[in-house]
Amino acid sequence: DNSDDNIYPKELKNKYTITKTLGKGAYGEVKLAFEKNTCEKYAVKIISKKTFTMNGRHKINLDNQIMSEINILKKLEHPCIIKIKEVIDTNETVFIILELVEGGELFDKIVSIEKYDELTAKFLFYQMVLAIKYLHDQGISHRDLKPENILLTSSETKETLIKVTDFGLSKFFDEFSVMKTFCGTPNYLAPEVLKTKGAAAYSNKIDNWSLGVILYICLVGFPPFSDENPKLSMEEQIIQGVYDFPYDFWSTISNEAIDLIKKLLCVDPDERITLEEVLDHEWLKSSPDTIQKAH
Ligand code: ADP
Ligand code: MG
Repeated sequence: DNSDDNIYPKELKNKYTITKTLGKGAYGEVKLAFEKNTCEKYAVKIISKKTFTMNGRHKINLDNQIMSEINILKKLEHPCIIKIKEVIDTNETVFIILELVEGGELFDKIVSIEKYDELTAKFLFYQMVLAIKYLHDQGISHRDLKPENILLTSSETKETLIKVTDFGLSKFFDEFSVMKTFCGTPNYLAPEVLKTKGAAAYSNKIDNWSLGVILYICLVGFPPFSDENPKLSMEEQIIQGVYDFPYDFWSTISNEAIDLIKKLLCVDPDERITLEEVLDHEWLKSSPDTIQKAH
């Protein structure tokens, strides 16, 4: 019998039935899983251990490090962070059983609705900041924040809760290859990562930069840095912090939102706004009612 089922080890198959693919990223495939005992649905992220590399050299045995990192991730508990239920570790593959989120990626949502109104964007962004601040407070940087890694709990446009996923493990991947793999675009990468080609250690301020890019996209539906500028490559735009707020798209958006984006997209990570300051920023403080609902 050559059914798909045979590709999974019995440690997994004994407990879960694996069905359709939910999503794919650079390193993992995520499938729908049913727990046999309870009939509960989960998402299972399948990571081949071969994909772990260090500084361009491949396949160093990082099992202990990876497992201790996953054990840290398992302890995380926040309403806007995907919960890890359990991890099934086999010789070649790690299966991470995750809380299932059924509203799809923020990325696909923006593509379909073009952009969010300012109040809805604020509601979503506030949750992202709370989630990432929680990670930072636990000593974890996300390092790969983008709308593909922000999942929505419902398909409604307004007042949807978000869950951040795909965090914590990317430090085991070669930064430069990560940067090149994402369809060749460094859209969300902080300038300090580009400048050193991934060879240096960064602070978690790299996430704050990515949040700035995401907020910009949520509000107008297109990115601040892109390949459409004939004079400057996207990498140079990012390194120099060259972007603008075209009047036709930004004239209806508040100055506070623009001010916050400028403070997030600050090239010098030391000068870049902290998440505590973001929560204290005028833009997020101005609509407390909306924001309370995110709690
Ligand atoms: P990668 O590291 O390969 O990018 P991700 O963890 O980001 O892997 O998962 C890839 C995609 O799978 C996500 O962008 C999303 O579409 C889907 N996905 C991931 N986790 C879940 C989940 N818990 N529930 C539903 N879909 C998920
Ligand atoms: Mg991903």
